[in-house]
Amino acid sequence: MALIVQKYGGTSVGSPERISKVAEKVAKSYREGNQIVVVVSAMSGETNRLLNLAAEVSDRPSLREMDVLLSTGEQVTIALLCMALHQAGMKAISYTGGQVHILTDNVHSKARIKNIDGKKIRSDLEAGSIVVVAGFQGMDESGNITTLGRGGSDTTAVALAAALKASECQIYTDVDGVYTTDPRMVSDARRLKTITYEEMLELASLGAKVLQIRSVEFASKFKVPLRVLSSFEEGEGTLITSEDKNMEQALISGIAFNKDEAKLTLVGVPDQPGVAHRILGPIGRANIEVDMIIQNVGVDNTTDFTFTVHRNDYVQAMEVLENVRQELGAASIAGDEKIVKLSLVGVGMRSHAGIASTMFETLANEGINIRMISTSEIKISVVIDEKYLELGVRALHSTFELDQISA
Ligand code: ADP
Ligand code: ASP
Ligand code: MG
Repeated sequence: MALIVQKYGGTSVGSPERISKVAEKVAKSYREGNQIVVVVSAMSGETNRLLNLAAEVSDRPSLREMDVLLSTGEQVTIALLCMALHQAGMKAISYTGGQVHILTDNVHSKARIKNIDGKKIRSDLEAGSIVVVAGFQGMDESGNITTLGRGGSDTTAVALAAALKASECQIYTDVDGVYTTDPRMVSDARRLKTITYEEMLELASLGAKVLQIRSVEFASKFKVPLRVLSSFEEGEGTLITSEDKNMEQALISGIAFNKDEAKLTLVGVPDQPGVAHRILGPIGRANIEVDMIIQNVGVDNTTDFTFTVHRNDYVQAMEVLENVRQELGAASIAGDEKIVKLSLVGVGMRSHAGIASTMFETLANEGINIRMISTSEIKISVVIDEKYLELGVRALHSTFELDQISA
């Protein structure tokens, strides 16, 4: 008998009718002879609704109370799904994250899972029950409710699959797998039959929100076979797995983009030791995460220093940078919020030269100016103006023949 963990996202449980449909799917897998643990998200829009409620009563809600609030979204869906399963004649029981001992650190709003005690779930499964667990949440050592960050139900599912040694973790969502790029932007995007953990991790980190980054990290670390599938139609979806030497590797597996970044430049900084530290030190102390960094070659003993941050941190980063500018005697500051990061990802890049230049040529042919470039072993990212995002993604998708992939 196989143990399967299934996760259903917000859209999949977005209405009572959809919850009843999920119950039917779960019941079917159970009747096929599997033990099933289900993880659910809050109904679509619910987490945002709760965030807005908090914003109406407080400018700076306590993160602890925020977690108490946000975790209720998932508590609604676990109960409703169990009721729907009972209606379908199944034995089912619901638990919040804390109730099944999903132990996390105490970093409210982005807690990390430290340990899961699977005893209770296992004994329910042995007794023939379907176990329904609230996604996105856990409990710290002192018993405070914590949440795992947006999209965190994916991570709950993978962590449970790892802890229970499930044979597969199935992520049911509103698309039927992982695509060569966001199918909502490019209609020619193709579903991938398989993708490596490594590539999926890059895609998720670079903006493809189909899986939370942490969930892919977990799956990779514990070798959990992970599959992304549609809640609404039958199909084999996309399997995320270890690199298989026999698997024919596409050069590029996918294109990701991130619309949440902003760029800042300090112009005319003295070109001397310690300057990068004096700029990024205060940014770090203000708890602002920096993504890409470039420093120009110095001319006349001065240089320009550019970096990107999350768009939400832009205004604050500008303020910090103005202090730094005065301290260092730099000439000026330039900033741009209307930029995006666009990235090509593929393990095939390791063994093939020339991908970067083809990428740059494609963008040049479309008249798209590249503002920043960063590369690593299996990815190339560029920062371009926001208005060219769609054009850039489509052009690259076609140059690299991603529309020719057959799943
Ligand atoms: P859920 O609510 O089920 O967790 P999400 O909205 O978090 O669903 O993730 C699914 C969405 O991810 C899709 O609707 C799609 O628009 C988006 N997405 C972005 N990049 C990709 C990609 N490469 N492949 C598939 N979906 C993608
Ligand atoms: N409900 C949470 C969110 O909207 C967690 C999730 O759906 O995975 O981010
Ligand atoms: Mg999600």
